[in-house]
Amino acid sequence: MEDDHLKRIVFASRNRGKIDEIRTMLTDVGIDVGSLNDYPDIPEIIEDGKSFLENALIKAKTVAEATGRTVLADDSGLEVDALGGAPGIYSARYAGQDADDGSNIRRLLNELKGVPPEKRGALFRCVLVLYSPANGRMETFEGRWLGIIADRPVGRGGFGYDPIFILPDLGVTVAELSSEAKNRISHRGQAIAKLKERFARK
Ligand code: IMP
Repeated sequence: MEDDHLKRIVFASRNRGKIDEIRTMLTDVGIDVGSLNDYPDIPEIIEDGKSFLENALIKAKTVAEATGRTVLADDSGLEVDALGGAPGIYSARYAGQDADDGSNIRRLLNELKGVPPEKRGALFRCVLVLYSPANGRMETFEGRWLGIIADRPVGRGGFGYDPIFILPDLGVTVAELSSEAKNRISHRGQAIAKLKERFARK
């Protein structure tokens, strides 16, 4: 990928928190990060892929076609061993179309009722795709974060499944970490760190 394509990228999201996070992490490598909020005419993108990678690719290609720019897209979710990797790509809507964090957590805890701690292993996964329409090149960056699913929510920080994701080394849930601490070690933080290394390479 030529460096020129990388001076300004569009992050394929309208989520303010995620946009700020990506922007903050990429400022010191001199990349100007735009977002879907700069392109209000692009309609909602249907993520009907069968994996995190497919969904990130769908977002990246759709936004690249609409803008002609190099695009960064992400997809992430929780995979629970005892549930064969569920909720996976359905993490955001695990409890149904109107799901919120609380109902998703309740469904997950219900599915794991009676499952002992040693069988409650899980991982957060984040896939980032960088796609340049100018030369059709695609690069992917992945982060994985291992944990154990708690039997009840603990902590008030973060979002999603954070209150039930225990970090075995620290003995706390992700919801008990500061956002700075979470970003340093999370699945998303790890994927962004790899992307940053890519940008730092000249
Ligand atoms: P998305 O990548 O923003 O679409 O995230 C999909 C879903 O995965 C979210 O709605 C959450 O339920 C879950 N998820 C992804 N990352 C995290 C995280 O860092 N903490 C808790 N839940 C997460």
